[in-house]
Amino acid sequence: MPRSEVACRNVPLRDILHMGVESLADVLFSGVDVRLTRVTEVAEGLVVGAVACGPPPRCPGCNARASRVHSSCERGLAGLPVDGRSLTVRLQVRRFFCDRDRCSRRTFVEQVAQLSERYRRSSLGLKQWQHAVAVELGGRPGQRLCRRLRLRAGRTRLLGLLT
Ligand SMILES: [Zn+2]
Repeated sequence: MPRSEVACRNVPLRDILHMGVESLADVLFSGVDVRLTRVTEVAEGLVVGAVACGPPPRCPGCNARASRVHSSCERGLAGLPVDGRSLTVRLQVRRFFCDRDRCSRRTFVEQVAQLSERYRRSSLGLKQWQHAVAVELGGRPGQRLCRRLRLRAGRTRLLGLLT
């Protein structure tokens, strides 16, 4: 479990909304290379805007360190709930060029350590909770528990984490 993601799960929502984005970044994503830009309360819970700000990553194809940014894009990640409310992270990440001639990848999108994985729409912390639920309860009972805990996870998703 990424330690950063469990730090403030019991902090009341009203306190979270009154924290500045820098303080909130410290408690929500401590040690993660992101800068928070906004926090918004919506009907379903909280939406935080975050920008990846770590050093240039290595190319997943050839392991060379990237240096040129191609573009940036936004991903939506479901995170662990805060004070019983769902959390969505609107994460802005960079697409980099790979400049190695022999590499088959021309560009790739960075991943934020302890937070995101390629193709995955949940944070790593949420994935680990879902996995624990799936191991203990399986599909349908796990889905019911996730609903009560306000963790986003369907039966198929839970079972998929077991393979
Ligand atoms: Zn490469």
